[in-house]
Amino acid sequence: MYDLRGRPLRDLRISVTDRCNFRCNYCMPKEVFTKDYPYLPHSALLSFEEITRIAKIFVAHGVQKIRLTGGEPLLRKDIERLIEQLAALRTTDGQALDLTLTTNGSLLARKASALKAAGLQRVTVSLDGLDDAVFRRMNDVDFPVADVLEGIEAASAAGLGPIKINMVVKRGTNEQEILPMARRFKGSGMVLRFIEYMDVGATNGWRMTEVVPSEEVVKLIHAELPLVPLEPSNPGETAQRWGYADALGQHDLAMGEIGVISSVTKAFCGDCNRARLSTEGQLYTCLFASQGHDLRSLIRAQAPDADLSSAITRIWQGRGDHYSELRSALAADTGIPIRRVEMSYIGG
Ligand code: SAM
Ligand code: SF4
Ligand code: SF4
Repeated sequence: MYDLRGRPLRDLRISVTDRCNFRCNYCMPKEVFTKDYPYLPHSALLSFEEITRIAKIFVAHGVQKIRLTGGEPLLRKDIERLIEQLAALRTTDGQALDLTLTTNGSLLARKASALKAAGLQRVTVSLDGLDDAVFRRMNDVDFPVADVLEGIEAASAAGLGPIKINMVVKRGTNEQEILPMARRFKGSGMVLRFIEYMDVGATNGWRMTEVVPSEEVVKLIHAELPLVPLEPSNPGETAQRWGYADALGQHDLAMGEIGVISSVTKAFCGDCNRARLSTEGQLYTCLFASQGHDLRSLIRAQAPDADLSSAITRIWQGRGDHYSELRSALAADTGIPIRRVEMSYIGG
């Protein structure tokens, strides 16, 4: 199944909650996400059975990878039960899914082994710095970095690897953490990825001046820890890969690699094979879409699988999204902010 730009559907991201115990300023600024914020009521959330039913239909359409996200996915009660159900699905060629989860790591130390036992294959942990003061300021709930590092260790010990570590880099906030992070994770078996701060949602007051271009990140690291470019490992991969070089300038496999995700400075819409399912069952075909497609009402109206399946086909085949490629043109042309959903609602 291909969209209007010839892109297949391979990757489904499912947001399991719109709540979070952190208030990262670039995602859920605490002035907006107060206790009075209109979070979704429990009845609006897709149940695990509803999620699994939709996921199965997506898998029949060629999805090979499912990522659970949020909000903070580990806050969803009994998430292990959903993982068990999703782990039982098989791709169209009979393989297990690539089943993963993105987390802020705060509950990982407690939950890593149960997640593994439920059938989760690996995790991506968001970590924006190693300096405790910087980290506490960025999560804005005074959460200590040591607890996330402990969570990462627990995930590694439980076999939830290869672990990816995602760092959003924001100018004036945490760029001084780039090198300490690179030094820490070099040779650890974990892949550190630097993400350009994006203009998702409508609450983070994004400014281009706060984006640290990936090129700058690579240059900075390369000056101390030489890097060599690596080929993409699969089509649709969001990160450009760089390997740590040995003395001969070859990739030193034991030292591993980093990735840079240049969502702002180098659009990668051309290969974008991702769909996103919000916590309440709205299907989004782009992170920057202002509107989703309501699958929950179909499910709750007792629609048969065939109807859900053809709705998904129609939506994907009608998809032409390429927001990141248009970003600069849009901003220059109109200067008007576009209404967008929050990342905590559709998931990263
Ligand atoms: N709470 C989980 C976490 O933080 O890993 C999962 C959800 S979070 C929305 C998913 C990812 O989106 C995180 O790695 C986060 O850093 C990233 N993210 C959120 N807002 C962003 C922004 N404005 N620009 C770039 N990345 C962002
Ligand atoms: Fe929560 Fe993740 Fe957003 Fe931070 S990035 S506020 S941890 S959902
Ligand atoms: Fe995909 Fe939209 Fe991001 Fe482009 S802007 S890579 S279409 S999610």
